[in-house]
Amino acid sequence: MQECRTGIRRQLKKMRFSETRDMLLEYINPVDTETVSLEELCGRVIAEDVAARMNVPHYDRSPLDGYAVKSSDTASASEGSPVTLRIVCEIKAGDTADHILKSGEAVKILTGAPIPDGADAVVKYEDTLYTADSVTVSQPLLAGENIIRAGEDVKTGDVLVGRGTAADTAVLGLLASQGIAGAEVYRKPNVALISTGNEIVEVGTALTGSRIYNSNRYMLAAEMERCGCCAVYEGCAGDDMSSIAGLLSRVLSSYDAVVITGGVSAGDYDLVPDALERAGVDILVHGVKMKPGMACVYGMYRSKPVIALSGNPASALTNFYCIGRSILRKYSGACDYVPETVQIRMLRDFSKKSRGDRILRGTMKVEKGMICMDPSPEQGNVIISSMRAADLLAVVPMEHGPVAAGDVLDGFMIR
Ligand code: AMP
Ligand code: MG
Repeated sequence: MQECRTGIRRQLKKMRFSETRDMLLEYINPVDTETVSLEELCGRVIAEDVAARMNVPHYDRSPLDGYAVKSSDTASASEGSPVTLRIVCEIKAGDTADHILKSGEAVKILTGAPIPDGADAVVKYEDTLYTADSVTVSQPLLAGENIIRAGEDVKTGDVLVGRGTAADTAVLGLLASQGIAGAEVYRKPNVALISTGNEIVEVGTALTGSRIYNSNRYMLAAEMERCGCCAVYEGCAGDDMSSIAGLLSRVLSSYDAVVITGGVSAGDYDLVPDALERAGVDILVHGVKMKPGMACVYGMYRSKPVIALSGNPASALTNFYCIGRSILRKYSGACDYVPETVQIRMLRDFSKKSRGDRILRGTMKVEKGMICMDPSPEQGNVIISSMRAADLLAVVPMEHGPVAAGDVLDGFMIR
């Protein structure tokens, strides 16, 4: 443990990814909030418990077209001895039910219309014989039959949507049904994305020599957006200390968080850890006992998280799924920021060589109701194609020996 500038105590001893993630999450508080309208609400993380202001429906209503009656009038009705009631008026959706129903009467009622006082059941058109003036029923109705009671859908005070959940289709409908025009949500954190490496060129420019296209940029930006952030690519800083530190300083002051890739290992051109320190970042983590994804740096710049990942695509993504994603999801206000653990039965052997937790990626199959993984044939750091069909990650704990087909491991979904 070392004391940092801000007094944050840092733990640079490598830990397992779950311990690393949980330790880092302690430093993360969600960003501030804003109010948005229903039109802008879908997918946004709600920042308050929103309670129902009224019952839905707010009056007893008919779910169908038919006749509102007193059930007691129909008690003796049968095929042989039907009961005929006099139709006294008609009530449509939107009307006020001002007639008080008396014995021997029926009210023609349409879907969504309020139930008149005195009526306690509705009989469907199809179950009657009717004229303009009378309706005949040939079976008894139960009290309450075909009536949607006030509050049956939502009761005043019910929590419609809880803090930390993303507004989905149903939430939009629920809020609108209450006349609620918008909600308090967490602001989407603006997250700067930076690449490093002299070999990196952008898609759209010519590839020469041993240069490579910047693929991490697009993968990580997509994942950051899925975490509820706005990802903004701020360029590639090459392998030069002052440009990396300069770019970091600039984005640290204007963004809510930073994700940077490449240059985090221990080689001559792995300048990112020092550049982060130079830019004033308090480094909390340097490396994790996992594979792929061991090389990484996590830190804080005041209240802003800083995530530095390996340049190796599979390594960067795996580390992000295991740690970075939880950090950004908590920062975005989501309450379910740690992925749910699922039990995964392995469909193939895997001979594990690493000493840390080995993270396997693969395709989900369901066999006899059990989640299974068909592991990708390639599990290396640099192999990007194996991420394509990966639905989930399985964790082979460091204590675990080689994996045999049929072994059950803990893991989590990434799609
Ligand atoms: P580094 O972490 O900088 O040592 O890079 C590890 C490997 O990842 C090297 O082969 C790099 O060329 C490659 N790499 C670094 N950055 C990127 C990137 N943005 N997109 C694709 N590959 C990268
Ligand atoms: Mg590099």
